[in-house]
Amino acid sequence: MKADLFDQRRLLELQAVDTQLTQLDQRRRKLDDDPAFAAAGQRLSALADKAANLSGDLADLDRDIERVEREVELVTKRADADRTRMASGAATAKELEGLQSELESLARRQGTLEDDQLQLMERREALDAELEETRRQVDQARAVLADAEAERTRSLEAIDTEAADAASTREALAINIPDRLVELYDRIHAKQPIAAAELVGRRCGSCRIEKSPADMIPIKSAPIDEVLRCEECGCVLIRTELPQSKPTTLASEDELKKYQ
Ligand SMILES: [Zn+2]
Repeated sequence: MKADLFDQRRLLELQAVDTQLTQLDQRRRKLDDDPAFAAAGQRLSALADKAANLSGDLADLDRDIERVEREVELVTKRADADRTRMASGAATAKELEGLQSELESLARRQGTLEDDQLQLMERREALDAELEETRRQVDQARAVLADAEAERTRSLEAIDTEAADAASTREALAINIPDRLVELYDRIHAKQPIAAAELVGRRCGSCRIEKSPADMIPIKSAPIDEVLRCEECGCVLIRTELPQSKPTTLASEDELKKYQ
């Protein structure tokens, strides 16, 4: 294939934009798979589970406390009834003896229940403090995640803007390159990230393999408008060392001055 060398060189600009687009894609993927982001989500979910479990434990404990309170109430009522019966003077000596024994037993039961009540209240206080602390951590984790989410959204928006700019630049560039050259470039680019690279000395700018002096003979003797391909990686090899055709853009004119 033959193409004006300056058109060939425009492929390098196209390549630069495509490399930028590839890097933007990589940045986008990296943001999507950010392990720190996943870790923040997991931490929030673990803390929320812990808070839910503690709430459940606290509700169970409240039921236990209520049960003990009801029992204390029953014991107190029973003891009051026993005392009233004893004070009534209607009870027989044997009954009085029985009532006295029951009152002692009720007093022991009440003592045990009061100890239980105390223990339950202490556990409730500790659990309540733990729940409060966990809720504080949930709020904190939620804020961290929201910040990370906002930061990620901002970064993705910046990437989208940059990608849209690069896409328009690419379009504008491609319009100024002959179609068949762009088609060749696109065919190669579909297979490999670098489709066009500069020949620097004897080295291919894509695969970095240095050509032997023998390999350089056909390259050096090729007509300047011949489209060369690297035998190693298949990319279009662009000769940038000598301009041999008329520049058609300002950038190329500046470039040409270097050789005048
Ligand atoms: Zn190569």
